[in-house]
Order: sequence, then C-alpha cells, then structure tokens
Amino acid sequence: MKAVSVIWRKEFATIRQLERSCYGLLKPLGVVMGVGFLMFLMAPLVLLAVPLMVLSGILMFGVFVWMIHLQKAPRREIRCPYCDNANSVFVGVSEFDCDFCQRPIHFNEQGTPMPADGSLDDAKPTSVWES
Ligand SMILES: [Zn+2]
Repeated sequence: MKAVSVIWRKEFATIRQLERSCYGLLKPLGVVMGVGFLMFLMAPLVLLAVPLMVLSGILMFGVFVWMIHLQKAPRREIRCPYCDNANSVFVGVSEFDCDFCQRPIHFNEQGTPMPADGSLDDAKPTSVWES
C-alpha cells in the first residue's frame, strides 16, 4: 500500500497528488466492498460478507475524512515554469513535480518557482510538441 505511506508521511506536494493517493486507496477498498456484496448474494458467505462490507465501508469513510482534513492545509497557486498550468501546492513544499507535465520544479531564494532539471537554463521557450 504505497498510497498509505505517501499520505501518512505527507509526501504529496500538490492537491492533485493528494487526491491521486487517496483515490489509490479508495479504489481497492471499493473492490473489496464489491466482493463483499457479491458474497452477500451467495447465501453461505453472508457471515463473511457483512464484516467485509462494514470494514471496507468504515475504511473508505476514514480515507475520505482524512483526505478532506489534509486538503484544508494551506496551499498556494503556482504556475508551472514549463507548461504555465496552475498547480495548487501545499505551503512548505520546497520541490514538486508539475501535475500537468510531471517535470520537477523547485523554489529559489525569492520563492519563485524554477525548473529543477535545468532544462530551461538556456532560456529556450518550451513548445507544446515537446514532451
Ligand atoms: Zn508543467
């Protein structure tokens, strides 16, 4: 469960990375709940199915509440220096990958977002067909 450790250690930098990690947890839980429901329909498995459905339901609710709680952390809009898309970045993050183009961005001493891989050091404008 990589998503759990990502969320637990707050290894997400942007709101989308947090949401992606949370959905990475919710999806398997939803599958477990679906399996529980199928078992519920098969009479001999009802005793197994009910706790499975209850447990996955509680866990999904917990992940959801946890996500809402973490989303409330202060954020700021950062325009990606590569692709100019707005990233909703959590305050205190010193480096992150753009949500849209996945390229690394870090902040300089003035707090300005800068390309972290040096690819824009020669001041060549990025173009849409570069990926
Ligand atoms: Zn970008």
